[in-house]
Amino acid sequence: MTGVWAVIVAAGKGARMGAKVNKVLLPLRGKPVLWHAVRAFSQSPCVDGICVVAAPQEREAVWAAVKDLGKVCAVVDGGQTRQQSVLRGLHALPEGALWVMVHDGARPLVGAQLIQACAQTLLARGSAVACAPLYDTVKRARDGRIVETVDRSVLRAVQTPQCFRVGDLLAAYERAEREGIQVTDDASAMERMGGEVCLVESAECNLKITAPDDLLVAGELLRSREGGERAPRTGLGYDVHRLVPGRRLVLCGVEIPYELGLAGHSDADVAVHALIDALLGAACLGDIGRLYPDDDPAYEGIDSMKLLKDVVRRLDGYTVAHADITIVAQRPKLAGYIPRMVERIERALPGAQINVKATTTERLGFEGRGEGISAQALATIW
Ligand code: MG
Repeated sequence: MTGVWAVIVAAGKGARMGAKVNKVLLPLRGKPVLWHAVRAFSQSPCVDGICVVAAPQEREAVWAAVKDLGKVCAVVDGGQTRQQSVLRGLHALPEGALWVMVHDGARPLVGAQLIQACAQTLLARGSAVACAPLYDTVKRARDGRIVETVDRSVLRAVQTPQCFRVGDLLAAYERAEREGIQVTDDASAMERMGGEVCLVESAECNLKITAPDDLLVAGELLRSREGGERAPRTGLGYDVHRLVPGRRLVLCGVEIPYELGLAGHSDADVAVHALIDALLGAACLGDIGRLYPDDDPAYEGIDSMKLLKDVVRRLDGYTVAHADITIVAQRPKLAGYIPRMVERIERALPGAQINVKATTTERLGFEGRGEGISAQALATIW
């Protein structure tokens, strides 16, 4: 036992990602971003236990994302600001926790070496904050003009982990709260107390996921660290459902007004079923009927987008690069719904390029007679 605990903050809003879900829950190499961050601490011999701070409305989703990792002892509700969230995490630590490493859940690339280097500096000198030099020339600006060039050799971009004695950090944050001051990182709270804060340079990329491109960069880095240069794979999916009265017509997660709907055990979203089979084909995981049997009451009436999201979680570290879906229907006209369909699929497969097309069969065959709708999909994973 080292007495070192990690508080991992996952209560942010991620407004810059443009996604509806918290960025720490977005998939990265088949697992949530947060899972990668927590796993690094979970596997480190320097760390006794982990407390994760989540937004109250996401506590269950955060717990589901990290529960398979060892050493996670609690998921606690965060506050309105990062400062309040860290404070709640600190209050949730057990008595044996003497030292704390505060880490952003949105930094999934933190590695064993950086955690170890921070832990060593923390135990030897009482504090440790991960940082990186600045490689871009830095200017001070005002009204869109350069005021001066700043000497970058004395500047550091600070990251997390930020590590302190639990008692020191609690005292620093409680004082900031009392004085009505909000700081954006833990070191700032300690600096205000006049304490020394030691820096540890990150040897490896410790990127914070902020914009959608960051997910792509992080995915590539994780792939190369895993050492598994795997070839991209492609899968093909095909599905047909019968058109009947008294059912909803749902295609790519979008409900379309029509006098008929598709018959089936689930919501019968034939386009999503074809896409799921394409993904399962690419991952060599069988087919939709094997994973979600149509005699299982659990899947009765289920939203097929839920099944799609579940499939993405099963992709064994693969990321979906691209999917192309063709819906074959004589009626109704689908062209006007396609942008919403693309948007729904993109939301389920963040980072993937999505194309959806619709065609008729010139009144030939079962689709042409309006007896049913078919869909085909191609998907590439890598
Ligand atoms: Mg089906």
